[in-house]
Amino acid sequence: MSSLEQIQNFKGKYPKQLWYLFFSEMWERFSYYGMRGMLAFFMVTQLGLNETEAGLQYGASQAFVYAFTFIGGLLADKVLGKRKSLFWGGILMIIGSIILAVDPKTYFFLGIAFNIVGTGFFKPNISSIVGQLYKEGDNRADAGFSLFYAGVNLGAFFGGLLCINIGKREMFSSLVPVGLEWNVAFGLASVVMCISLLTFTRTQHSLGPIGLSPLDHLPKRNKLIQEIITYAASLLILPIIIIMVSKTEYTDLFMYIVGPASIIYVIYEMKNFTAKENKKLIAALLFMVFSIFFWAFFEQSGGSLSFFAANNLDNKLLGFENDPNGVNNSANSLFVIVFASLLGLFWLWLAKRKMEPNTIVKFGLGFLFVAIGFYIFYTCQFFSSPNGKTSLNLFTFGWFIITFGELCLSPIGMSVMTKLSPQKLQAVIMGMWFLASAYGQYFAGLLGANIAEASEHSTNFEKLIVYAEGYKQLAIYALIIGVIMILVSPLIKKLMGDVK
Ligand code: GLN
Repeated sequence: MSSLEQIQNFKGKYPKQLWYLFFSEMWERFSYYGMRGMLAFFMVTQLGLNETEAGLQYGASQAFVYAFTFIGGLLADKVLGKRKSLFWGGILMIIGSIILAVDPKTYFFLGIAFNIVGTGFFKPNISSIVGQLYKEGDNRADAGFSLFYAGVNLGAFFGGLLCINIGKREMFSSLVPVGLEWNVAFGLASVVMCISLLTFTRTQHSLGPIGLSPLDHLPKRNKLIQEIITYAASLLILPIIIIMVSKTEYTDLFMYIVGPASIIYVIYEMKNFTAKENKKLIAALLFMVFSIFFWAFFEQSGGSLSFFAANNLDNKLLGFENDPNGVNNSANSLFVIVFASLLGLFWLWLAKRKMEPNTIVKFGLGFLFVAIGFYIFYTCQFFSSPNGKTSLNLFTFGWFIITFGELCLSPIGMSVMTKLSPQKLQAVIMGMWFLASAYGQYFAGLLGANIAEASEHSTNFEKLIVYAEGYKQLAIYALIIGVIMILVSPLIKKLMGDVK
């Protein structure tokens, strides 16, 4: 078994383990984004929910996914260790997607619940394992996270594109029996999740001591009992999640509690650290707060934007026929894959000229890009046909701009979390970073439902106008937040100490 020292002293740009994690995460995100790209549409067309209900429940399901990443991170740190957590999460995700593949209509919420808990165990732990491949202060970590993020989006791209297209019979329809298209689409998500888990189990020996159990010092029996309790608790919570996702007022309650509780926990931990370390932790919390707003805008993608795509977009992209939902699910990921490294090079180019913006300003820029992108969505209404169908090209251009916003915030945010948190608190802080996006998802659902509600019982053209006006509002909010962030950047910079 390689020692931590040997792993972290790797030569070249990337440790080889990163590639294994890259592929495992790529397949997991294929499954995750494949499924989530179908949820809102499936709820409306197959389960008969209206867009408002579907938007809220979609938002709730996504909020729970990311809320459980916090809990999954904590449990990994305290009981299972990252590797076992990841394995258990993968198993739950496979079971969830098989349930959906067998009978998505009857067992919809059960399948979703399995996926929520499974992702909670999988996602934060694979991300913090990436952080552990690097020594503290190794400046190759940023590049590592960028590569990992490309893997995330490679999976998201294929999953987001293929699953919904199979479900809607836009692709491979001759191979899929009529009436079974949704089973096949969810089935694909389960097959790729198996590939993800196999990739991990076949390569995990290369991780040496990384991610092993934190309870190895205990007698075997005690360790086993704690592990079994964790597994059992994660199954017992499933019915509660089903209720909370389908009755969204419980989601509200849950969200009121989990965020403040996590902040109290961090404050409690602060007594163990120096003033300098605590200042960095406060900076990390501020980044998280801003990121909530970001995800609330960005995550319109799976909710309101998927209705907008289904109702109001034509199906011509650069002259070729393309399903607008597939484009909405996957264009952003494609842009991330293409532009992530170019933007990285651009930052390096600026750094050489001592002009590279710091992390806070980059976050601020992220909001400005989102503002422009949503303004473009707003302008789509001016290019509409009388039946309310507008340009898929312009819409895709909006996503192109928003992608730069995401690249200014998301991979950089993950990396800065590992830099701002003391070693002992890394998993919790990474979990909280994702928990912040749970709040983003949650607010995204509320915002999206507001837009959908205003457009109920209207013609397709009126819907277009309501959605477009909604996006204009979001553009204005994003602009305001971006400007605030850039203005307060000197204050946050002081808290960050030597971290750039
Ligand atoms: N798109 C990224 C991923 O799936 C970011 C998710 C998030 O932080 N909310 O990993």
